[in-house]
Amino acid sequence: MIKDQDFISSKEVPGPTKEEIRCLVLCKSQVSSTDIVVDIGCGTGGITTEMAKRAKKVIAVDKNVKAIDLTKQNIKKHEVYEKVNLIKNDGISALKSIENVDIAIIGGSGNDLDEIVSLAISKLNPNGRIIITAILIDTKLEAIKTLKLNDISPEIIEVNVSKGYFLERGVMMKAENPIAIVYGKIS
Ligand code: SAH
Repeated sequence: MIKDQDFISSKEVPGPTKEEIRCLVLCKSQVSSTDIVVDIGCGTGGITTEMAKRAKKVIAVDKNVKAIDLTKQNIKKHEVYEKVNLIKNDGISALKSIENVDIAIIGGSGNDLDEIVSLAISKLNPNGRIIITAILIDTKLEAIKTLKLNDISPEIIEVNVSKGYFLERGVMMKAENPIAIVYGKIS
């Protein structure tokens, strides 16, 4: 796994998704070297870069040109540039224009979560997996509801990570923001 501090980051773009969360997203997605992945809301490129190291190809989408530029820097830094197609567009238009994929990651969706999730599911190959990372309680509920509406049985985990910081007197545990991972598979 790539350390958080090994990504080039910017105050203007969210991410990278924290290392421990990336770990779980990779594991729950069951990514393998034959998979084609779409990452909607690639942000800093944290998940895109990790996926590109393990998958056949990643289509990284973000509506913010600064996020696309930062993701480009990170995939170059981590030597997976050739495996990633960068698309500067909103999730809905981008999903309409792509071929089918094996894994869809939704890391950002603004007010369009329902439509983005439904469209992403319509683009999944048999055995395809969808994973939504959610910070807002509203997004968590919306994601669960939309998976059900599309005949996918949702699973959800909420992760509360505390990381140890080594001080002179001892180790201090510092909590990170809780984040939910909502996921499901085409049966
Ligand atoms: N997983 C990323 C961080 C995602 S931050 C990482 O590891 O670096 C969420 C991103 O979603 C932001 O960059 C935001 O611009 C993007 N986003 C939000 N709504 C979007 C939409 N409707 N279409 C495309 N991108 C969107």
